[in-house]
Amino acid sequence: MSFDDLGLSTSLLHAVERQGYTEPSPIQEKAIPLILERRDVLASAQTGTGKTAGFTLPILQILSEGHQLRKRPVRALVLTPTRELAAQVSENVKAYGEFLHLRSTVIFGGVNQNPQVKALRNGVDILIATPGRLLDLHNQRLLSLASVEILVLDEADRMLDMGFLRDINKILALMPPRRQNLLFSATFSKEIKQLANGFLHNPVLVEATPENTTVEKIIQKSIRVDKGKKPALIIKLISEGNWKQVLVFTRTKHGANRLSEKMNKSGITASAIHGNKSQGARTKALAGFKKGEVRVLVATDIAARGLDIPLLPHVVNFEMPNVAEDYVHRIGRTGRAGASGEAVSLVSHDEVDLLRGIERLVGQRIPSQTIEGFEPSSNPPPKAAAKPNNQRRHKPKNSGNRDFQKRRKGGFKGRSNR
Ligand code: AMP
Repeated sequence: MSFDDLGLSTSLLHAVERQGYTEPSPIQEKAIPLILERRDVLASAQTGTGKTAGFTLPILQILSEGHQLRKRPVRALVLTPTRELAAQVSENVKAYGEFLHLRSTVIFGGVNQNPQVKALRNGVDILIATPGRLLDLHNQRLLSLASVEILVLDEADRMLDMGFLRDINKILALMPPRRQNLLFSATFSKEIKQLANGFLHNPVLVEATPENTTVEKIIQKSIRVDKGKKPALIIKLISEGNWKQVLVFTRTKHGANRLSEKMNKSGITASAIHGNKSQGARTKALAGFKKGEVRVLVATDIAARGLDIPLLPHVVNFEMPNVAEDYVHRIGRTGRAGASGEAVSLVSHDEVDLLRGIERLVGQRIPSQTIEGFEPSSNPPPKAAAKPNNQRRHKPKNSGNRDFQKRRKGGFKGRSNR
């Protein structure tokens, strides 16, 4: 199928061509015609599937065809969990809307509100926002949602993980009940289904697996190594492999900072990106990484969500994620758009359970190897070895799969230290 078959206007087709897209991704193929038919859509799609264009293109089309009011009230609202994702959606809206006369703006917290207020005063057709700042400005009576015709909840699962349910419900109450609703989520927990049932009208379910599913184009490896030797090992892998653009995941913000410092000391340019950094610092780190000035970006899971970094050749799990499903998100960052990528996991003794949980989730064994000079000690470190009957053995509280199950069952309340 080509973009021409989707019912999009020539201005939009022109913009798509300018982006260099030759054919629609599966989610675009499915979602665009449905959204143009004004159906409510419940879409299962994660970053990397082209989901943003999947909802942005038809929204631009609908709004450009509709009657334009002089005051330009907000007619489409896109809610995202993070500032980064909001900024990226906004960039996409601007790029795809290049040849249309629609206005859009993005609002998120952590920065001065005045420029955002000014943009809103001038009138915007499409507003991209994180829930907190949106409510904040609404409470100050600086914006109205009374004319919203189309609502998008992007990465709805992350919004719930980050505790935005109450805010979302408040925002829903501020909009006219008759509107088109689109919900995008990588996973479908009980809470997501409840949320969807609460406000979607007779939705069509569309599903898209990312271009790179874990099973296909990504080469996955795990390297067994003692925890304390991980920094030296990752430095060796990056320098000897001459890796140019590497995304490294740590579990905590402090871990991200420490590792990034160690890398810089050993001559590998690195930046850490996590929730404690200001918006400016994060944007700068990301820009440096994209330009190739910074070789390694060390990120926590939440900070990495929504980062738009195409064609990443290497992803390293410096520490294994507690939630098995985060592994899929992490490694989905490699080799986008059809190219192959490599995902390497550094696994210490205490993380073997997590690795098994991940293997159960992705339904395959991840080949394991050791590196000369970095072979793990044959006995687990004393702490783990001294407690053969510890809780974790009987009750794998931190096992990825278990956490994943827990989240699916609705017990997951978000993680604080990321
Ligand atoms: P998303 O899943 O929306 O975060 O998009 C992931 C990446 O795919 C972005 O860098 C987009 O610019 C790119 N993209 C979106 N649609 C297409 C397409 N049809 N062909 C090629 N790349 C695309």
